[in-house]
Amino acid sequence: QYILGIETSCDETAASIVKNGQEIISNVVASQIESHKRFGGVVPEIASRHHVEQITIVIEEALKQAGMTPQDLDAVAVTEGPGLVGALLIGINAAKAFAFANGLPLVGVHHIAGHIYANALVQKMEFPLLALVVSGGHTELVLMKDDGLFELIGETRDDAAGEAYDKVARVLNLPYPGGPHIDKLANESDEALQFPRAWLEEGSYDFSFSGLKSAVINYQHNAEQRGEKVNPNHLAAGFQQSVVEVLTTKTIRAAREFKVKQVIAAGGVAANKGLRTSLEEAFTKENISFYVPPIKLCTDNAAMIAAAGNSKFSAGHRGNMSMNGRPGLELDSWN
Ligand code: ATP
Ligand code: MG
Ligand code: FE
Repeated sequence: QYILGIETSCDETAASIVKNGQEIISNVVASQIESHKRFGGVVPEIASRHHVEQITIVIEEALKQAGMTPQDLDAVAVTEGPGLVGALLIGINAAKAFAFANGLPLVGVHHIAGHIYANALVQKMEFPLLALVVSGGHTELVLMKDDGLFELIGETRDDAAGEAYDKVARVLNLPYPGGPHIDKLANESDEALQFPRAWLEEGSYDFSFSGLKSAVINYQHNAEQRGEKVNPNHLAAGFQQSVVEVLTTKTIRAAREFKVKQVIAAGGVAANKGLRTSLEEAFTKENISFYVPPIKLCTDNAAMIAAAGNSKFSAGHRGNMSMNGRPGLELDSWN
């Protein structure tokens, strides 16, 4: 079963063809990062304009690289939400037009389900499974008792982990997106400043990063006011330690409580070296299998949308021509 995946929820225009939800045949990503960099973040109007310019090229390139024609496909999967509404609509309209023109069924996919199913492209997902989703807009622990079955057991009450990374990076004058730069500084550091960890109530699987973000930003500003220079490596390392310790500790506790067979990390922040190392070490000790996709599949791409779409399509779900961009879409089960 060959699925064409299309993703335009934020600032990457992406198309990919995936076989049986696990084998990448082609995977094309046109990033707009360069255009948003000088604004220090994603500008929705600019994102939409780029998607319009790129979408047809990217879909054609995905077919070309696969050496396939639309007749070789079984369905088109597209990100329905959450994301920027104007950006989502470009992908959805392209998917509708492509599906209609080629007589193919359509299936709408939740962006975060896509991030989770990026793992299916690397190894078989085994249930019950715990997914730590850490991205630009989400920080969640999702329990999956079976394929297509999602239970949200914890989420951030304020900033997402990626958002905190990007804001701290801004204060350090690092380019957008800041996550990878903070990661690099932290890994090069031999010392770390001490910042608070937000554990919240006993037993809670929720997260909070705004207090940490403010503590780091205030530390930098206070030092500047006193005319002192902060070592950016020490600051980055302190911030990263705090994020990584909370994420690792809560993920382990949830994995134990729900007796999961497999733990996976997903989303852009799962590309973080400090987090990957910490989770790998912790789960090796726990004797629970832990996986994280290669970096290219952690950040936004369409292969993950095709993989999730494959599962949802196989479960019998179909979208139609009234599909609309849904910026606040909730992660619902399809099984
Ligand atoms: P969402 O998936 O929640 O809709 P998004 O699609 O914008 O949001 P992703 O593309 O999944 O988010 O991830 C982008 C985020 O990942 C950015 O905040 C970026 O800084 C962060 N990120 C990428 N690489 C790293 C890294 N090595 N360390 C920390 N953060 C990183
Ligand atoms: Mg992105
Ligand atoms: Fe994403």
